[in-house]
Amino acid sequence: MERQVRVRFAPSPTGPLHIGGVRTALYNYLFARRHSGVMILRIEDTDSQRFVPGAEDYIIESLKWLGIEIDEGVGHGGPHGPYRQSERRDIYRKYVKQLLDNDKAYIAFDTPAELEVARNSKPNWQYDSTTRMSMRNSLTMPADEVKQLIENGEKYVVRFLIEPGRDVEVNDLVRGKVIINSSVLDDKVLYKSTDDLPTYHLANIVDDHLMEVSHVIRGEEWLPSAPLHVLLYEAFGWTDTMPQFVHLPLLLKPDGKGKLSKRDGDRLGFPVFPLEWHDPASGAISSGYREKGYLPQAVVNFLALLGWNPGDDTEIMSMDELINKFSFEHCSKAGAKFAYEKGKWFNHHYLQEVDDLTLAEKFKPILEQHGVNQANFTDEYIAKAVAMVKGRINFVGDLWEQAAFFFVAPTEYDPKAVKKRWSEEMPRIMTELIDVLKGMPSWKSSEAEPIVLGWIADKGYHLGNVMNAFRLTVVGECKGPHMFDITELMDPAETIRRIEAGINNIKPTE
Ligand code: GLU
Repeated sequence: MERQVRVRFAPSPTGPLHIGGVRTALYNYLFARRHSGVMILRIEDTDSQRFVPGAEDYIIESLKWLGIEIDEGVGHGGPHGPYRQSERRDIYRKYVKQLLDNDKAYIAFDTPAELEVARNSKPNWQYDSTTRMSMRNSLTMPADEVKQLIENGEKYVVRFLIEPGRDVEVNDLVRGKVIINSSVLDDKVLYKSTDDLPTYHLANIVDDHLMEVSHVIRGEEWLPSAPLHVLLYEAFGWTDTMPQFVHLPLLLKPDGKGKLSKRDGDRLGFPVFPLEWHDPASGAISSGYREKGYLPQAVVNFLALLGWNPGDDTEIMSMDELINKFSFEHCSKAGAKFAYEKGKWFNHHYLQEVDDLTLAEKFKPILEQHGVNQANFTDEYIAKAVAMVKGRINFVGDLWEQAAFFFVAPTEYDPKAVKKRWSEEMPRIMTELIDVLKGMPSWKSSEAEPIVLGWIADKGYHLGNVMNAFRLTVVGECKGPHMFDITELMDPAETIRRIEAGINNIKPTE
């Protein structure tokens, strides 16, 4: 029988979720939905030293913003809870005991100082079959002494007993078969009595087993842990239900040279986090995609293609389309360059799909910031202005630069355009234009245009010069949407006022 697909996103709340972690969550989600499976959110907070307050909420909010829905887990509940590892101590204790009882693990009392001496005794020293018999542990000490020390409250750890000389096979859906000899592995610490908590390795395996995880989909940085995990499944007798491993390619710096870091983002001006993060300890602020004006659909689409492709050249895909096409067959082994400029391209695309009234709402606070009383303009006016310029923006924040003139009359005129278009005779021609405009039966673009162009032709004026001078008075520079669309939207009296202001204020230059 096919096993039900159950995947988990298992972040550690050690700070804001890195964009690579977001991609891991996304691939888990796409795979789960593709196979009508279950997406679990498990918080791996067994490392109390690295716990950061607020990080868990940040993770949950990020996933929500991106539309990555959780079926089971922290904040949702489910049949395998609790889903926060720090609340599962009793469970782990039982499994640590099982390993100890079956001689798959042992207790070690070595102090940090003793370990330091051992490490300095020879290069590449590690706690393993070649060294463990010369250390202070339950393999070298009499049982009653071990018992006594524990009763005395002596600190200890539980270590995994790794049998040397075995080829351990990891089958990975992206990387294929990876074989590692167990002799290179060390006897990893699985549990620490200090805080009565397991380490990542034990908690991760026990939980994947108990939560019936079918596929472990995670970043490539976890590949080195996989052989150890395979051995742990074996030690517990769970080999038959061991999940399928999938290690995702690294996200690389934009130039492809090394792993993407927060510093690359700071240096090149792009966020490496989904949401803005305020570090509770230092107060430092890290920028986020949401606050930079990215739409979640754009971030999802952009990230999906960093390490995967649909098998053809399709680039624009909604979440549903991604779900329909997703498979590990088209995941690359090679790292994916973080081509952040492409993220802007996706955002531009998805902004065009947002309806104009919604964009207008997002534009209002920006208008206010620039001192425009948006109450002076109807929603319809703002939406129409937005509609005319949105083809030129990558972010809502770009709207001001493109559409400010719809809300404030120019006070300055682009000197280059003045030089090129504002000849001595222009004030007279613009005065004539005012008469032509005032005489029009309608300011509708399609009706106004032939009237004005007809007048220009009748008079034998230079079309480009006159139209650009007209634009200069209304917009302040020679850019923007179709001139007659602008004047159709604007109050006719305002257009006339601007031309008059231009006549009075623009001075021809040599
Ligand atoms: N807690 C690990 C992390 O922070 C999880 C790794 C895994 O998915 O096994 O990424």
